Amino acid sequence: MTGASRILVCPNCTASNRVPAARNAAAAKCGQCHNPLFTGHPVAATASNFAKQIAANDIPVLVDFWAEWCGPCKAMAPVFEKVAAEFEPEIRFLKVDTDREAALSAQYGIRSIPTLILFRKGAIADQRAGASDAASLRTWLRQYANHSSPRKGEGRAGVEA
Ligand SMILES: [Zn+2]
Repeated sequence: MTGASRILVCPNCTASNRVPAARNAAAAKCGQCHNPLFTGHPVAATASNFAKQIAANDIPVLVDFWAEWCGPCKAMAPVFEKVAAEFEPEIRFLKVDTDREAALSAQYGIRSIPTLILFRKGAIADQRAGASDAASLRTWLRQYANHSSPRKGEGRAGVEA
């Protein structure tokens, strides 16, 4: 086996899976819990899995800071969902409920919602207010997504501690 690989964090158990770059990560399953590494849907993040998701993933991680009472957040939700399905597995999509996860919200200085923060290897790479339409979100994300990965390969991903 040769070639590059990347670490993808399981959305279910947060195990770090090393997936060869030549494999279709969209079809990969977690070597630890056997759930799909990507479901086509944003993942709800909490204080317990947030740090690992943003720091351990080799792919960019986009986080939507939102709240139940926020009208613009609700308007953006289907847009975020749709774009998540398009950009996985090149970008991981997370959602943080700012009411339930007030500490995370405070940590990143969230003052208005929805706020989108794009992380690379744990650091903030970019940040913007929510997008009301899929086109503007796509345009913004294309600069961070790598759509060149081949779509082939099978088998289970290996797990790293
Ligand atoms: Zn897992």
